[in-house]
Amino acid sequence: MKHGLCIIGYGGMGGWHTEHALKSDVVELIGIHDIKEERNKLAESRGIKAFYTLEEVLENKDIEFVTIAIPNDVHEEVAIACMNAGKHVISEKPVTLSCDSLERMIAASEKNNVLFSVHQNRRWDVDYLAIQKIFDTDAIGDVFSVESRIHGSRGIPSDWRGIKKYGGGMLYDWGVHLIDQLLMLYRDKKIESVFCEFEHLTNDEVDDGYRLTINFENGARAYSEVGTYNFIAMPRFYARGRKGSAVISDWREPCKVVECFAWHENDVLPVKTAAGLTKTMAPRDEITTKTYDMERPISDVHNYYRNFCACIEGKQTQIVTHQQMRRVLKVIEAGFESVEKKQPVKFDDVI
Ligand code: NAD
Repeated sequence: MKHGLCIIGYGGMGGWHTEHALKSDVVELIGIHDIKEERNKLAESRGIKAFYTLEEVLENKDIEFVTIAIPNDVHEEVAIACMNAGKHVISEKPVTLSCDSLERMIAASEKNNVLFSVHQNRRWDVDYLAIQKIFDTDAIGDVFSVESRIHGSRGIPSDWRGIKKYGGGMLYDWGVHLIDQLLMLYRDKKIESVFCEFEHLTNDEVDDGYRLTINFENGARAYSEVGTYNFIAMPRFYARGRKGSAVISDWREPCKVVECFAWHENDVLPVKTAAGLTKTMAPRDEITTKTYDMERPISDVHNYYRNFCACIEGKQTQIVTHQQMRRVLKVIEAGFESVEKKQPVKFDDVI
C-alpha cells in the first residue's frame, strides 16, 4: 500500500525527497508545492504535478502526508497549517528554531491526531552506524568519549543559511544532525551540561562553525564540531573506550578499531622524538593490542519513509520520536545560551 505525499519546497532538499519518492515502495508522489512560480514550472517540466498554492495542497484528499523542505524559520507555520488540515507531517531538520515552537507543533499533531516527525536522515549514515556498533558491542568497552566532526573549506553557503532570521548558521544546519546522532549514542545517559563556542570566519551574522561539548552523567562526554574553513579535515569520528579506541577518518572510510587486550606491558622501549625520549607516548604493539577495520554496516535511508508509512498504518512506532526532537532542540538552545554567557550551562534532562 502506498501513501500519497506532497513535498512542500522544491529546492535542493525538496528535489532530493522528490527523487526519493519517485523510487519509493511506500510513497506515491502526488505533487510538489513551492512559493516560487519558477520552481513549480520546473517540476511540471519534469512531469511532476505542481500545486501553486498551499490551500490546494490542504484541500487535496489524495495527499495523506507532506514533507516540508523550506527554510528553517517557516517550518512551524506550514507544518501547523498542514496538521490542522488533517495531514501527517514530516519536517526537514531542524524541526524548528526553538523549544516553544516545537511544543506548538507537537500540540497541533496531538489535537489533530496526525503524525509529526523530523527527517533525521543522517541516522542512516554508514559512518554513524559504524560508531553506533562500537557503542552497542563490546569492541572497545564502555565508550566514555566520542568526537564527531564535519569539516569543509567553502564557508557557509551564501543562501538563507547565512541569514539569522531564516534560522541560518551551522549549529542549526549540520549541528542538528551531529547532535541527534550523539544523543542516540548516549540515549540512556542524562545530560548534565552543554558548552558551545561559535566561529565567524566568513559570516558575522550566524555561526559558520561551532564547537559543542555535551557532558553526561558519570563523566561521559560527546563533542561535536562543524567547520567551514578547514582545508584539512580532522577525522569524522573518534571514540575512546575503556578497552580501546576507534576512528573513522572520513565518511567514505571504514571504522578502524584498536582493541587493547592487555593493559600492562613489561618492557616498553623508549621512542626517540625530535629532541628527546619518551616511554609514555611509545606506540603499542600487537603484543597488547589488536588492530582491524570493522565491516561497513549496510544502510538504506528509504527505511525512514518505510517507518513513517508503517506508522500511518498503525503498524510501527516512529523511529524519530517527539521526545528525541525535544532533546536535540534543547541542546541547541543550551548551545546558544552558552555562547551568549561564554560558559557551560546546566541542563535539566529528561530521558
Ligand atoms: P533551498 O533554498 O534549496 O530550497 C527551499 C525551497 O523552499 C525554495 O525553492 C523556496 O522557494 C521554497 N520555499 C520557501 N518558503 C516556502 C514556503 N513558505 N512554502 C513553499 N515553498 C517555500 O533550501 P534546502 O537546502 O532545500 O533546505 C530546505 C530545508 O531542508 C531546510 O530546513 C534544510 O535545513 C533542510 N535540509 C535538510 C538536509 C538533510 O540532509 N536532511 C539537507 C539539506 C537541507
